[in-house]
Amino acid sequence: MSKRIDRRAFMGATSLALGLGITGCAGSSINPVGESNVSGDRDGENGKTVPRTCVNDVAHEASLSADIRKLVDKTPLMDTHEHLPPEADRIANLDKLDSTPAPDFGMLMCHYTDSDLRVSGMSGDDYKKLIGRNLSPVEKWKLVAPYYERCRHTGYQICVRESVRALYGEDDIREDNCEAISRRLREQVRPGFYRRILREAANIEHAQVNSLSNPVFQEIEPADDLLSYDLWTIGIASGVNRNTLNHCAGAEVTTLKQAHETIDHIFDKYGPRAIAVKDQSAYGRRLNYEDVSDEDAAPIFARYAKGDRSLKPEEMKAVQDNLFRRCLWLAAVHKLPVKLHTGYTAGHGGMDLARVRDNMTDVARLSREFPSTTFVLMHIAYPYQRELIALCKHYPRIYADMCWAWIIDPASSVSFLKEFIMAAPACKLFTFGGDFRPVELIAGHARVARRGIALALTQLVQEGWLAESDAPALVERIMRGNARETFDLDRVLKNQKGT
Ligand SMILES: [Zn+2]
Repeated sequence: MSKRIDRRAFMGATSLALGLGITGCAGSSINPVGESNVSGDRDGENGKTVPRTCVNDVAHEASLSADIRKLVDKTPLMDTHEHLPPEADRIANLDKLDSTPAPDFGMLMCHYTDSDLRVSGMSGDDYKKLIGRNLSPVEKWKLVAPYYERCRHTGYQICVRESVRALYGEDDIREDNCEAISRRLREQVRPGFYRRILREAANIEHAQVNSLSNPVFQEIEPADDLLSYDLWTIGIASGVNRNTLNHCAGAEVTTLKQAHETIDHIFDKYGPRAIAVKDQSAYGRRLNYEDVSDEDAAPIFARYAKGDRSLKPEEMKAVQDNLFRRCLWLAAVHKLPVKLHTGYTAGHGGMDLARVRDNMTDVARLSREFPSTTFVLMHIAYPYQRELIALCKHYPRIYADMCWAWIIDPASSVSFLKEFIMAAPACKLFTFGGDFRPVELIAGHARVARRGIALALTQLVQEGWLAESDAPALVERIMRGNARETFDLDRVLKNQKGT
């Protein structure tokens, strides 16, 4: 039987011929919850249930899965989180001998992939050689191959292979093609390659970028229809850095009042052109930002500003608490959603799981204290994603972002998406952010995400939880519509033009 049977025509003909109102056999359903999901045919004579051939159902399931996949593939993604450096920097770095990662296949193993390689036993020195400029691609391959083999089944490595498929037409990296992949990677780095990879290879409509090249906000390449930028609060508040504050103020900041004025100025200056506030202080501290009064924080800040090295960690925390709460308030004033890193931490050998576990408890308290601030909790708070679903279900202004999650743990991400859709309002979910510096890997990540989204929705329909007719609107919402509703790109573009 042909796999590509028209499902609706086929089912309609079958039902008519049999005079039945049923369409499936055991384990399959195209009906929403509460509608008929009969698992066999009724014998008209004696009322016994008899198994009907499942051939139609095999065709039905294959067709359902293909249709949903097609829908997900053609729907553009709104990408809510990347770390792309300016494209001009990538081009300028092509031949800079001190710039790493070198523009060869090693670059595809430099972000996240490196963590799996290191945890699989690769030494730091060998990793440096992998991303450096002293070895040929084949020499690099010989170095990395034993470790790649050990971890090739993880989401990070699946992402590498999907990127290679999307961009270079190869299905894996091997000794016999690592030179060709490296050559093609390098050739593709030319003006316009961000747009080509994001739009053409990854079908991404727009990407929000947290630039790591600037202390607070990316101004070098202004926001446009393809990229917009976050206002970054680590250096001015949650992980306050004297130099960053002084740089933004254009003078030495010596008092808490001046620090507040500087933060206010930053929000006034960049807020209209920023797509969101971004903060990943969870890497270094708990998210329990306490209500520390200005009176209590001011003398501590004055000591910090003077470079007092005797400050205790709890004193620094008090200053951070005071400053970051001001940012949370200003974010609401400027209508900027606050994206917080939550959950799993990148790298290897350092994650404080107890602190990660507390992320959801801490943010729930912040949401109660700042009811007008929108919180976007990134990376599904993995591995505490069920706590995140509970928060999104309960708190009107807490949203979940699946950025990075698809490659941390693809199977859990499929389950998360299914559970989220059935537990929390679908408008509270963003389904994609590559969270990458190299644009090349976003192409692979988008493919992994699309596979997962299609799988989750197909399973929900097959299991009878979701009406097939609801799938198109839901796909549009979770892949694109929610980000359009929550992040005001039109405002950013309008204000960018006015500058
Ligand atoms: Zn990130």
